[in-house]
Amino acid sequence: MATIEALYCHLPFCHTICPFCAFAVHGNRPALHRPYLDALKREIALRATEYEGARQPIEALYFGGGTPSTLALEAVQELLDWIAAHYGIGQAAEVAFEVNPEDATPAYLRGLKSAGINRISLGLQSLDSATLAALGRNHDAVQGRRALEALRGSGHENYNVDLLYGAPSVSERAFEEDLEHMAAARPPHLSLYGLDLEEGTLFARNGTVREWMARHGPRQASQFLYASEFLTAQGYRHYEVSNYCLPGREGRQNLVVWRGGNYLGFGTGAHSHRDGTRWHNERHLRIYQRRLEKDEPPVAYQEELSGQKMANEGIMLALRQADGLDIPQWERRYGFSWAEGQSEIAERLRQEGKAHWNGAQLALTPQGFLLADEITTQLMLA
Ligand code: SF4
Repeated sequence: MATIEALYCHLPFCHTICPFCAFAVHGNRPALHRPYLDALKREIALRATEYEGARQPIEALYFGGGTPSTLALEAVQELLDWIAAHYGIGQAAEVAFEVNPEDATPAYLRGLKSAGINRISLGLQSLDSATLAALGRNHDAVQGRRALEALRGSGHENYNVDLLYGAPSVSERAFEEDLEHMAAARPPHLSLYGLDLEEGTLFARNGTVREWMARHGPRQASQFLYASEFLTAQGYRHYEVSNYCLPGREGRQNLVVWRGGNYLGFGTGAHSHRDGTRWHNERHLRIYQRRLEKDEPPVAYQEELSGQKMANEGIMLALRQADGLDIPQWERRYGFSWAEGQSEIAERLRQEGKAHWNGAQLALTPQGFLLADEITTQLMLA
């Protein structure tokens, strides 16, 4: 039986639904928490029966959403105890929890620490009020600053800050100022995402936003390159397309996923992977709960990955990381040979300044990161 390295728990409730968000989310109503927690606990227990006798404490646990910080501290403790009882949490495990600025009070952050959370991810997005308003966020710049200060004073040494760039109708300078704030605050980890118009979101249906995004699309590329250069000069490592960290502060949950490891996701819409089988859960809250009431796994889709598909995913995930693709290791792991045509493409990318070799590892430069999807498609096995 496969070892599970990481667990993910999805908490779908949000104070308001942001117009750009495509996650499985639900307006927050405290009355919905108990039935959801019960369903989540049932799913956690149901999956655990598959690992009896072959269980090893997990090394990373992540509470994401949605907004996990809509939960009361007692509920967080209840979930942590339940997971520890069913899987075991390794002594050195990273236990991460997403907090939105409006919930980041000193008392709540201290409570999370006492409960056993040792990494916070703060959904700041920006410290500029115009950007936050354009993104339809529930907090303003004053609340954001207060939340960051509360986090820095809370005793949590390991934390991430999320920033979003490319908001409509906002000056490029606002993002540069956000980066300057981060350089002064020095969070151990930063995740930077460019605004994307995801199908089904309010932004994607808004003609004005669509038109603005079409006109200003190229500026996201320049913001991406600016951030990479600026943060690298500040001592951050641009270790994955969207992620930066100070030395040794990589997000462990992410590393498990990006290395093609085994992880289980619990909750609405959560994704899992185990030894080449991948699945995701029902996104609809009621359907998810109803299936668990009948003790049925709430799986909406499951796929057995072919050897070739796994090898291609290996290329895609590795090229998104600064360490790049270790070609001999890729050949050993997936049983394919790196072809001459792939080497020719790699050499062309090197000449164009989009890739470089680090021994036998092919890694993308920031210019290459911008085209990671396109480059992956070129290098994939046909
Ligand atoms: S708070 Fe986060 S998860 Fe919730 S709607 Fe906004 S972006 Fe989506």
